[in-house]
Amino acid sequence: MPELPEVETIKNQLNEIMPIKVLECTQSKVISGIAHTPIELSGRKIIAVHRKGKLLYFELDKNEFLLSHLGMTGGWRIGKEKPTDPNGVKHNHLCIKHKGGYLSYVDPRRFGHMYQLDKLQTQEKLDELGVDLKDKAYTPEYLSTTIKKYPNRQIKVHLLDQKLYAGTGNYIVNEICARAGVRPTRRNKSLTKDEIIKMHKATAVVIDGATQTGGTTFQGGYADTTGSKGNGVGHLVVFYQKICQLCHETPVKKLYLAQRGTYYCPKCQK
Ligand SMILES: [Zn+2]
Repeated sequence: MPELPEVETIKNQLNEIMPIKVLECTQSKVISGIAHTPIELSGRKIIAVHRKGKLLYFELDKNEFLLSHLGMTGGWRIGKEKPTDPNGVKHNHLCIKHKGGYLSYVDPRRFGHMYQLDKLQTQEKLDELGVDLKDKAYTPEYLSTTIKKYPNRQIKVHLLDQKLYAGTGNYIVNEICARAGVRPTRRNKSLTKDEIIKMHKATAVVIDGATQTGGTTFQGGYADTTGSKGNGVGHLVVFYQKICQLCHETPVKKLYLAQRGTYYCPKCQK
């Protein structure tokens, strides 16, 4: 599933072609499984693309927004021609024709969500999400306060809460715990001030590392707007690793927390 670094990569690439005027917008027969409102883009202008957490929101003219959550396998493709790869043709649910070419939404498993909303409704959707991990408001104090609010939660499960931390996801929180030297199974109340500061620092390392390499994919779910899968796997220290890439000697242990694969180094993480 695309997490913050992947959605950030897609947003940056989309902004390279913005603004555009929509000449024509065609939609698949099954778009209603994804779009929760009618999508009416023909003749409209797309000014810029923004992101909060894993939610993309396209700024349209007339104070409207197109919200796009990619779900498991959703993605946007930019091209001179309509997408021609197998997924592109079969799973192209929305295709925007503009002067420079085509912008398409592809989603083989159709777990994505889309809405076309006015400014107020958009703000309501954004307000449902917590502080974005790249936002200035994500401070050590914010992390500490929100951790202390839920003393009995396990830290890894806690960090997945989108209402507190917009943009986290399974690989991100595994990596934050690893780089901070904290076992994912620890209860929030056991964390020291020093460990929370380390987790805050680790967040930027994990997010920036993955973003600079164009995102990360594990089971083929993510591709950027060019269809590239990113090189972020090389940046991981425990997630999907056999040997810990911090100490380079200890086999990584795997367990399940809240049904999600959880990886840690028994030597580096206390
Ligand atoms: Zn280690």
